[in-house]
Amino acid sequence: MNSQVVKRELQQYYFDVITNWDCRSYEEFVSLIAIQINRLPCIQLTGMYKWMKESSTYHLISTDLVSKELLEEGLNSKDISKDLFCFYSYEKDYYLNVTSGLLLYVRFSDINSISILQTIQSETRKVLKLAQQMMSNQDIYPFLYEFSISVFTMTHKSEILKEVYRTIQTFYPDNVIQFLLSHDTELDDDIPIQTIAYTDDETKSYSSKAFVTGGVQLENVDKDSRKIYAPLTGKQGVYGVIQLLLKDSPGMLLERQISCITHIAHTAGMAIENVSLLETSNHLISDLKLINDVTHKVNSNLDLTDITESVRDKIEEVCQASEIGFIFRHSENRVDILSASTSYFKSKNSEAFTAFLFKEIDYPVFKGDYDEYPHLPYRSLMVIPMRQEYEVYGFVVIMHESPYYFTFEVYKLLQSLIQHCSLALSNAILKEELQRAVITDYLTNLYSRNHLEEVIIKEMKVAEKGSLILFDIDDFKKINDEHGHPIGDEVLKQVANIIIDYSKQAFVPSRWGGEELAIYAPNTSINEAVQIADKICGKVKTSTSPSVTLSCGVSFWTRTINDSVSELFIRADKALYEAKNTGKNSVVKNVKLK
Ligand code: GH3
Ligand code: MG
Ligand code: MG
Repeated sequence: MNSQVVKRELQQYYFDVITNWDCRSYEEFVSLIAIQINRLPCIQLTGMYKWMKESSTYHLISTDLVSKELLEEGLNSKDISKDLFCFYSYEKDYYLNVTSGLLLYVRFSDINSISILQTIQSETRKVLKLAQQMMSNQDIYPFLYEFSISVFTMTHKSEILKEVYRTIQTFYPDNVIQFLLSHDTELDDDIPIQTIAYTDDETKSYSSKAFVTGGVQLENVDKDSRKIYAPLTGKQGVYGVIQLLLKDSPGMLLERQISCITHIAHTAGMAIENVSLLETSNHLISDLKLINDVTHKVNSNLDLTDITESVRDKIEEVCQASEIGFIFRHSENRVDILSASTSYFKSKNSEAFTAFLFKEIDYPVFKGDYDEYPHLPYRSLMVIPMRQEYEVYGFVVIMHESPYYFTFEVYKLLQSLIQHCSLALSNAILKEELQRAVITDYLTNLYSRNHLEEVIIKEMKVAEKGSLILFDIDDFKKINDEHGHPIGDEVLKQVANIIIDYSKQAFVPSRWGGEELAIYAPNTSINEAVQIADKICGKVKTSTSPSVTLSCGVSFWTRTINDSVSELFIRADKALYEAKNTGKNSVVKNVKLK
């Protein structure tokens, strides 16, 4: 028999043993291997000896092919550090190191051959190593069970990936692992993550294929090594690919390894899917909470300023915008910037921009590199229309200096938030308009006499002083008679506009009745009031067309003198009467004496 024949025979025997082995008892397997060696015609006796730690001696573990006592006794007195060594003097008995802690005894029936010994040793080593790997693979199932339980209790993707990495490393410590994940995964220094590349490149196409098809791919790297690409598959998608380099894995072992990695990858995929679904629903819940919070607030309040301030604060909280503007379409040509808007929208600079937006934009905008309006110092822009029954009645404009500052998720959230507040906003705007209409004179846009009186009553209770200026258009009847009533109306409007223009923010320009107009000037002395009245009279005379003049009476109250609203009116009226009687087109004051 030569070593080639021995090799062929042994491989055949071993193959039969390993394919029928149930991976339960390693010792039984070792014993079977000893029997196979004994089937070789050139071998007379075999035995397998195991190193026993407790007694520090070798024990026979194969079946009785050899005299147990005799050999154990002889063996334990020998130097076994050599790879193979002979025992009896006539050189038929040999011990071969086959794995650590295991010795194979063979007795040749005839003359020995070193090459046959070496063949027996190397083939036996191979089959024992394979058996050990199969055993360890067998042991993996309880661990896989543990692994599944642990990853399904995790709440972060990176935790799951770490656990996958740890588990695979435990079972395949010598193999190179790589995670190939989509670009949105956060990188973690503890685990080897690479962004998955979509490519036609042969070397990378395995990973792409695994990712796209969700099926395991196998790449032959060279004669002894292969790469497994196991996709992290969930029920709704693939979340990445595990790449594992395997060396020296014969067919059957490879199959087991593939099934094990596939199982790990699939379990991890399902766990990642759970985590992302949880994250998504948590996001949705917090978004809904936010919207609910704001709508509750705005619906329990009808004040426009309060509502817009609440919405503005929430927007700021959600996206940390630099500027937020509430732009409201008052009429075809008039745009109102609501008071809750931030400073940019109240500055002169913004007027042209808001007018531009109103003209140009009739749809939602989400831009990270906005450059359609020259010299705008903001690159990130969101414009969210406010609608009521399909009609756009205004916009919320949200901006930041940095490009691509807002995420699309934020934009969607704000869109939904503003949509939910739309009804409350339009109701508040309507209410404010109604309130204005009640206190405003239709023809002149001045406050009504009612409102004027209410303001003065309130003022006299809380303030220190104030002036009332009463105007009457001179010879107005003549204007009507000469030019007609419509022209008379126009002149009345011209005078009203001048009075509005000359009124400070806190003043109350009003229509007293007919062609008699008034201003209440809070916290204003009589001399200041006379000056204002003089200016108005001068302006009316020069800029009305047809030109008219005004007669004017001014009265004043102060906390130091006992007074009443009606007395204040009477005094102003008296002064006006005096102006009429002294040639008209003049200002007369009436001061109450102590
Ligand atoms: P005087 O200088 O004494 O004030 O003379 P007058 O003509 O202005 O005074 P008078 O009280 O005799 O007449 C007031 C006129 O103002 C009568 C009325 O037709 C007119 N008038 C009052 N309200 C309106 C209005 O809303 N529109 C128009 N066109 N005229 C009005
Ligand atoms: Mg009059
Ligand atoms: Mg008049």
